[in-house]
Amino acid sequence: VIRVAQEHVGQSLDMFLACGRRESECVNYWLADQDATDVCQVVHPTHSGSRGGYAVDGGWLNGFFLDLAERGLRAVAQIHTHPGAELRHSWIDDEFVLVPSPNFVSIVVPDFGQGGPHPETWSVQVLTAAGLWVPDPGAVRWM
Ligand SMILES: [Zn+2]
Repeated sequence: VIRVAQEHVGQSLDMFLACGRRESECVNYWLADQDATDVCQVVHPTHSGSRGGYAVDGGWLNGFFLDLAERGLRAVAQIHTHPGAELRHSWIDDEFVLVPSPNFVSIVVPDFGQGGPHPETWSVQVLTAAGLWVPDPGAVRWM
């Protein structure tokens, strides 16, 4: 279970509107200390976005992982927007997972994030050891 403060939820929602401008998908990564479960930082990757998906820049990713290792941080969740009310992972979402290891959390936010801070309307999914995404609203505690 990861714990996320309103402050960080707000940062992601602000970014979704500023970057996605209600017309394209945006993604953020939530970081925690190596052995902790409290989200301590929100990161907005360099990415492209459209109405149907997003792609994170490969060069940016390399630098990101190096930086994480240096700072003793890890990415505990990815959070991205979808155009409408459909919250299931697309095949592209399944194809590109930031950290493909068990217990990594993926959150999908509807309507390009215009709905405000209402996590109960979002989809929280957790990656299992078998590589499957399973809905698990309890995987995130909203503080
Ligand atoms: Zn973005």
